[in-house]
Amino acid sequence: MAPISRFRRRPRTAGWPRGTLGNPPHPARSPAIPVHPRVSRTYCRSACALLAEKRPGRFSCAGCGQALFASDGKFESGTGWPSFGAPLEGAVETQVDRSLFMVRTEVHCARCGSHLGHVFPDGPPPTGLRYCINGVALDFAPG
Ligand SMILES: [Zn+2]
Repeated sequence: MAPISRFRRRPRTAGWPRGTLGNPPHPARSPAIPVHPRVSRTYCRSACALLAEKRPGRFSCAGCGQALFASDGKFESGTGWPSFGAPLEGAVETQVDRSLFMVRTEVHCARCGSHLGHVFPDGPPPTGLRYCINGVALDFAPG
């Protein structure tokens, strides 16, 4: 008499749905998990490009070209965002921003209205302000 095991059904491969035929896909060939653009290196490189900008010059609106900040007002805030103590006279406007369950002061270009970032009251002297600006909203012109 044949051993009982000969009549048992072969166990399904663990973890594969019933009806799946063929070999499981190789992990290296499966589609890569998409990376959110905010954490991808490409985004960081472009957003942080002006973070390391230390030459004298002017930062202008990427939307309309209006000069917004002078390089001598820029400081290293440690936040990863280009930060300035003050904008050029009349270059930016602000409004209260209540998004993300916070009350912040939004900063935008006075000419074209492009969103630039936010201003916080924790900057260094003499202004005590920190204009925290998204690098992709700015262009830099040395000189
Ligand atoms: Zn503008």
